[in-house]
Amino acid sequence: MDGLHTERLEAGRAPAAFATAMAVPALVDPFGRAITYLRVSVTDRCDFRCVYCMAENMTFLPKADILTLEELDRLCSAFVARGVRKLRLTGGEPLVRRGIMTLFASLSRHLRCGRLDELTLTTNGSQLAKYAEEIKAHGVNRINVSLDTLDPEKFRAITRWGSLDQVLRGIDAAQAAGLQIKINAVALKGVNDDEFFHLIEWAHGRGMDLTLIEVMPLGDIGEGRLEQYLPLSMVRAGIAKRYHLEDLDYRSGGPARYVRVAETGGRLGFITPMTHNFCESCNRVRVTCTGTLYMCLGQEDAADLRKPLRASESDDALFAAIDEAISRKPKGHDFIIDRRHKRPALARHMSVTGG
Ligand code: SAM
Ligand code: SF4
Repeated sequence: MDGLHTERLEAGRAPAAFATAMAVPALVDPFGRAITYLRVSVTDRCDFRCVYCMAENMTFLPKADILTLEELDRLCSAFVARGVRKLRLTGGEPLVRRGIMTLFASLSRHLRCGRLDELTLTTNGSQLAKYAEEIKAHGVNRINVSLDTLDPEKFRAITRWGSLDQVLRGIDAAQAAGLQIKINAVALKGVNDDEFFHLIEWAHGRGMDLTLIEVMPLGDIGEGRLEQYLPLSMVRAGIAKRYHLEDLDYRSGGPARYVRVAETGGRLGFITPMTHNFCESCNRVRVTCTGTLYMCLGQEDAADLRKPLRASESDDALFAAIDEAISRKPKGHDFIIDRRHKRPALARHMSVTGG
């Protein structure tokens, strides 16, 4: 089925979104925040089963519910027409979606005509050796690779199904192709908390930024969050005992706060949804592979964009649904992990909305 979509995408369908692009206003939510960043989960499937992200036995969505590559292109293009300047493809694992390179190829037209500043990707790295050159050829310059440990045994324990060696080969290939890499590592108590210095030296030694992420209470994963949760305020204090950390104004377009590690010269980011709420500057929304738009990562409220997308060739109904959804974007989330809140704050997994 994807082969068919591939052909149609390559035929270069002119999205209806552009016919009305000049006439439609930018997306601004009720709190005055302009929505300029869309994260798109192109599949809920993955070749890993990270312990903080998925249960080992996941039930994935039926194929009929999932937007085709052509529909994903049309949806992304509608957001671009409405002022989105940055698109991130994520998942599940975006590079396991069959035919995914055709989506990169078709979306890259927005980079060439200057409507889009950045097309990027968050990946577990397992397929990078295969795709890095092609990704770069489609105009992608920077990617995020998730890697929580440099210890092969621990890597296997965290990802359940993954191979560290394969990911490291993918990182080598991506750097050889000229892609800039940011490594994302989830801080896990008792798992990788003895490795942060090693991760910093390894990433910075290879010219890569490193960002540490607090584990978030998303989805039932079959074990307690409290056991995994490690506040980054504590991690930062520990790192600051060995290194000089200089606060930076640098922002990568995301919620990370960065410091420069004086000893390595590299950048270290902290994403702290639990200890520091970053919602006031939120510029993003997320759409799933079924076309469900989540206005906030940490809230249940969502809008179905698949229905208006499939209802007509015109994008009018789609634009109306997007406007209505953005008018409901909440002020922020209220994640809590403590002894009284051991259940997930939200039923859906991170692999549904994408990281
Ligand atoms: N499979 C790709 C990957 O791992 O990079 C993209 C999707 S994954 C859901 C995106 C990011 O979300 C990864 O960096 C992952 O570590 C992070 N993540 C998943 N579940 C999380 C959770 N419960 N709390 C914090 N980060 C999480
Ligand atoms: Fe897959 Fe990424 Fe979730 Fe790990 S974090 S299970 S690689 S989607």
